[in-house]
Amino acid sequence: MEQQTLVIIKPDGLKKSLTGNILTRLSETKLRIVGAKVVHVSRKLAEVHYQHLKDKPFFEDVVKYLCGELHGEEYRRALALVYDGKDAIEKVRKLAGATNPEEAEATSIRGQYGRLTTSGLFENVVHCSSSEEDAEREIKLWFEPSEIIHDIYPTTTIEVKTEKLVWK
Ligand code: ADP
Repeated sequence: MEQQTLVIIKPDGLKKSLTGNILTRLSETKLRIVGAKVVHVSRKLAEVHYQHLKDKPFFEDVVKYLCGELHGEEYRRALALVYDGKDAIEKVRKLAGATNPEEAEATSIRGQYGRLTTSGLFENVVHCSSSEEDAEREIKLWFEPSEIIHDIYPTTTIEVKTEKLVWK
């Protein structure tokens, strides 16, 4: 089944200089990248992204983690990617490995590069969508239609009057 999935290389992945390694592992899936950008993750974006965890004791930590607050000012960023292709969600989840890096298969991305912090947070270097429903919600949250190479969900045109930042 043709699917899309959101992959985020989290701030620890960027800080540990793992972008190339992770993209190489993801290329094993033969899926296509249809969107990619570096994002300064706001608190609001992280909270909405992790809304399903809002009652968990680690919610505050995981929000700070995605915002880059745990990895220093220089790494307050994440790399967001949309992959497209056959069974994209399952293929990427399998390659990423289990949520807890200690339980992830040793050769999976999280098994290879993730760690359990002393405060008990799973720093697992990547996020990937876990279902088609989640993927659609997450991709629409992180990307505008114009940032994806082709329309993956129905779009509509609206008129907006806005200021735009341009090169001087
Ligand atoms: P996944 O990222 O595998 O889809 P979740 O959406 O359940 O898993 O969790 C989001 C993130 O929160 C995880 O990637 C991990 O960084 C962190 N996390 C999840 N469960 C725990 C936990 N029990 N203890 C500490 N951190 C956790």
